[in-house]
Amino acid sequence: MLILELETTAYTAEQFPSLDVPQVALAGRSNVGKSSLINALAGRKKLAKISSTPGKTRSLNFYRAAGDGFYLVDLPGYGYAKRSKTERGQWAALMDVYFQKSTGLQAVVVLLDSRLPPQKLDLELISFLQRESIPLIAALTKADKCKNKDRSRVQRQWKELLSPSAPLILFSAKTGMGKQTLWAAIREAAGM
Ligand code: GDP
Repeated sequence: MLILELETTAYTAEQFPSLDVPQVALAGRSNVGKSSLINALAGRKKLAKISSTPGKTRSLNFYRAAGDGFYLVDLPGYGYAKRSKTERGQWAALMDVYFQKSTGLQAVVVLLDSRLPPQKLDLELISFLQRESIPLIAALTKADKCKNKDRSRVQRQWKELLSPSAPLILFSAKTGMGKQTLWAAIREAAGM
């Protein structure tokens, strides 16, 4: 069983741990299923908080993968409509500092809702990562909710937008679909 331990919760850049440790970050729109994915990877129910109210988490959570010594970094979800302009500005500023300082960052797992067509904010994040030459792993979440016949269409859509080297993984926290594949991709990206 994979062991993830929450080491640091950071609301400000001053609270970041040492960022030269190898790390893989997780990013996605609010409510995309990021906390559920972390819990599924760790095989625990309440490691990351699953919120019924979207848009709550504003911290960066640094989980240490025990045995491997790299961080899995849970970045705060973006695109929550009810957030104020000031809050969105604070989010963007904190992300900027994180990406600037994170010399150990090896890849970003971008979580994309398998039931939705590509969304503007997701595409912006993907372009940013491509510009910065940060390797990307795409996880298509809530795949259990996506009808069989729609799955290959969604995969095809994303394949056209992503670089051929980016793993594209159908994932479900509910059924465990894609869990092993995603974990293997994360470890490989982290250089383990
Ligand atoms: P976050 O805001 O990105 O951390 O999203 P959460 O993990 O809190 O999940 C948001 C909502 O989607 C919750 O109601 C979850 O129960 C639900 N959810 C997350 N992952 C899955 C999944 O794989 N399958 C299904 N059916 N629901 C999911």
